[in-house]
Amino acid sequence: MTAALDNVLDSFLDACRSAIGAQYVSIDAEQNAAYVTDWRRRFTGTACAVVKPGSTEEVAAIIRLCNKFKVPVVPQGGNTGLVLGSVPDNSGSAIVLSLTRLNEIRAVDPVNNTMTVESGCILQNIQLAAENAERLFPLSLASEGSCTIGGNLSSNAGGTAVLRYGNARELCLGLEVVTPQGEIWNGLRGLRKDNTGYDLRDLYIGAEGTLGIITAAVIKLFPQPKATRTALLALRNVDDALRLFVLAQSKCNAALTGFELMSGFCLALVGKHFPQMHVSFKDIHQQYVLLELSDSESDEHANTLLENLVSEALQQDIVQDAIVATSIAQSKALWNVREHIPLAQAAEGKNIKHDVSLPISAIGNFIRATEQLVQKTFPGARMVTFGHLGDGNLHYNIAHPEDETEDSFLSQQAAINFIVHDSVHSFGGSISAEHGIGALKREEILRYKSEIEMNLMRTIKHALDPLNIMNPGKVI
Ligand code: FAD
Repeated sequence: MTAALDNVLDSFLDACRSAIGAQYVSIDAEQNAAYVTDWRRRFTGTACAVVKPGSTEEVAAIIRLCNKFKVPVVPQGGNTGLVLGSVPDNSGSAIVLSLTRLNEIRAVDPVNNTMTVESGCILQNIQLAAENAERLFPLSLASEGSCTIGGNLSSNAGGTAVLRYGNARELCLGLEVVTPQGEIWNGLRGLRKDNTGYDLRDLYIGAEGTLGIITAAVIKLFPQPKATRTALLALRNVDDALRLFVLAQSKCNAALTGFELMSGFCLALVGKHFPQMHVSFKDIHQQYVLLELSDSESDEHANTLLENLVSEALQQDIVQDAIVATSIAQSKALWNVREHIPLAQAAEGKNIKHDVSLPISAIGNFIRATEQLVQKTFPGARMVTFGHLGDGNLHYNIAHPEDETEDSFLSQQAAINFIVHDSVHSFGGSISAEHGIGALKREEILRYKSEIEMNLMRTIKHALDPLNIMNPGKVI
């Protein structure tokens, strides 16, 4: 770096220190390490500083300085994102703007069924605050102990209850945003109907920090269910899982809150690496569905609903065997199996991950066709297929063949991604269902989105952020 640039950077950092306090502007490499490395530890970038404002006004002050000194900004919540969106590149020119000090719950309105929260609130704390108000905030992810609502909204997170309640976008009524020029837009409206022009809220949700900083949000609350029931059902194949899905929807309607698919190989991996979580069915099955019902009436009603569903599925020869949880502890144990699949996968070795979505009706054909394509070029590759089947969202991961080293297999990642993503595209699907684009899939989306769609996105980005300081190098 030249002396002149050094001086500019020093002036910028001094101005940041004056704006929010020197203790919240860190240039200490050791202290900053966790902020510049992604959750899966695939990439470590460099930041000129990690800056932690404590209020919306302080965020705005920092962004105005970034404008003045033309310093790029990487917004960061819990840094649990999986597409390298929340970490800086290795140029060292950007700041990481951590929102974690904006962590207040500003208001709870049980009549309007809304809560106003700051963007750095940890998702689990929001769920607890809702529970204390005898309400439910249904967004639920395995990372909920450390991800933030700002990150959830910026990546339009999905999770395990999308089937019933929708993704983060559908759970948000209003936003407060600091624009790339450092203005504060107060759109904290708790309205379910508001047709007053372009929907700016929806523009910022899912923008992965490329259009502005979300500093607060009005989120929707729901009545707590009176009873929840969980079952693990063993099936012959994915087509039977789809038949079960149709049956469950027709019999349980809105009570069906979770419908997760896990292949037999996924369960075997969990049993191998976490023997205490071994699930014992009499036989080994090809596919399993973890199903959850949330009933608004009573325990008895929930029991009857689940019993009727399972007995009809057995009668129709859709389901081969079933484990029905009879206590909260058993239900948690079944969910634990589902949530340990990524950890079991990691324990088995590095693998190539895909977060894809498809029309639900196409999932059986997609899985069959894609496995054939992968096996043709990479014989012995092991498919670790699981996901939120009820949302058409598969985590379609691939582990190395047993007779090939992880590194040699991983060196083929680009070729494997092409096979999988081309297949997803041919079935009318999306190459990113819930994790976003970040830096990881920025090139890849160019292969699947039309020039018109990309140009519209570029036009919006340029109009809102002409200096390109908001999370440059991410999404587009
Ligand atoms: P970060 O990782 O910090 O940031 C994510 C993106 O949002 C980045 O582009 C960042 O720049 C931007 N950003 C963050 N805060 C703001 C803000 N206030 N304003 C503007 N931009 C901002 N995701 C799912 O959708 N479903 C799952 O089921 C799921 N399961 C997961 C399980 C595990 C174990 C892990 C590690 C991750 C999982 N994820 C899942 C991914 C991740 O947790 C979510 O994307 C989460 O919403 C990210 O929140 P965060 O606060 O960590 O955001």
